[in-house]
Amino acid sequence: MNPQEKQLLKQIMKESIATLTQEVATLQKGLKPIKKDCSLDSIDHKMLKQAQDINIQRYEVAKKRLNRLQVTYTHIDTKTYGICQECEEAIPFERLKLMPESKYCVACMNELGL
Ligand SMILES: [Zn+2]
Repeated sequence: MNPQEKQLLKQIMKESIATLTQEVATLQKGLKPIKKDCSLDSIDHKMLKQAQDINIQRYEVAKKRLNRLQVTYTHIDTKTYGICQECEEAIPFERLKLMPESKYCVACMNELGL
């Protein structure tokens, strides 16, 4: 990986971190317990509950990815960044552009069932 490529990945990560931080904050706001509303019948309530569950799921996924990106961002200048932890080959740059937090190449990820 050349310095320009690394710079580009840093930029991508920074933007993803900013976007995810906002997403996590927005989702968190939506996680408030559902208010008891007498005007809702049980079906409406069920639907609200389902929407809430989806929100929780999205929140957890976004938060996990945000954590991974933040950790990766602090490690990008280490020698092991961009190297597959399993086969120790360089992870293709195109893959890192899409998922800068990748620790494995696609082949190893499939092999490991991740
Ligand atoms: Zn690999």
